[in-house]
Amino acid sequence: MKPAWSILPDEWKPILAERGLRPFRADQILQALYRDYITDWDQATTLPKDFRETLKVEFPLTKAETLDVSKASDGTQKLLIGFEDGNSVETVLIPATGRFTQCISTQVGCGMGCAFCASGSQGVVRSLTADEIVAEYMAGRRLGEITNIVVMGMGEPFANYDETMRALKLINAGKGPNLGARHITLSTCGVVPGFRRLADEGIQFELSVSLHAASDGLRSQLMPVNRKWPLDELLEACAEYTRKTKRIITFEYTVIKGVNDSRACAEDLARQVKRVPMAKVNLIPLSPVAHRPDFKTPDDQTMLMFLDVLMKNRVQTMLRRSRGKDADAACGQLRLRHLPGAKQQ
Ligand code: SAH
Repeated sequence: MKPAWSILPDEWKPILAERGLRPFRADQILQALYRDYITDWDQATTLPKDFRETLKVEFPLTKAETLDVSKASDGTQKLLIGFEDGNSVETVLIPATGRFTQCISTQVGCGMGCAFCASGSQGVVRSLTADEIVAEYMAGRRLGEITNIVVMGMGEPFANYDETMRALKLINAGKGPNLGARHITLSTCGVVPGFRRLADEGIQFELSVSLHAASDGLRSQLMPVNRKWPLDELLEACAEYTRKTKRIITFEYTVIKGVNDSRACAEDLARQVKRVPMAKVNLIPLSPVAHRPDFKTPDDQTMLMFLDVLMKNRVQTMLRRSRGKDADAACGQLRLRHLPGAKQQ
């Protein structure tokens, strides 16, 4: 038994041959999975019935049920996706001119414990498998053609490296969903071993790094991961990544009122990111989260001051706005609703 959505398109033929199944079936399977977006093998009506029965047993389609949909006034939709074991994650679909971006989760909860993030407030329950991540993508794909994926939902992708990478390679595969690598962005809070691994893949995925503070003291307070991999190590890994891949790294900086929003913080940020060749900065105002009422959104003036300091230091910078606020679908707001048995008591 092997979940169908864990199998890369090129792996089908040898896997079928191993089981004495005819190789031409591979193309029919890929058609059903990645052109017709079936949710049940019985929908693959081009395949003979007995073969469908074999597929159900040998290559099941991972259950990922859309339990809930909430829509924000800006068109953003958040789906709650439930898996076989009762765990669930959230995925967000964000429409924009010429784009339909899906923000995907890679873990149930998150173990990184960033102070300002709702996903981390309850710890990690478990990592998703590659087929679950693909099933999550499929749930979004059925609502429209996805043009971009950002791995910025619940979980830390570099803490679930293998399964996340397999899912993204599958989504990227030409005979699969065929979404271009440059349209797929991974975001990490700074799990350093992941940088070298990603560089060695030789795939042109985009990489974002959640920085949020540019001095070790403050960053360790906000992001416990900094105690394990402090800024020197992180920025060296980033620099090595850009040298090796010749690809840009985008640093995400969430501005929190009175916490990391001073002019000195902005200057630290400019100085630190300049250690990385080919770096960009995205400035994001904090989305308020229920568990930290003391963390507040900065005003526009503060955001502009940050932008100004970075521009004067010749750091390429973008001001980002948060989407999906009134559906609790904004950055850092994704969180568990349906906790599994043990956690419910
Ligand atoms: N674990 C990965 C991906 C998930 S978080 C990472 O840390 O990058 C996706 C982005 O949302 C990160 O940049 C994260 O720091 C940011 N974020 C989390 N909580 C937020 C909040 N309350 N307001 C704004 N951005 C937030």
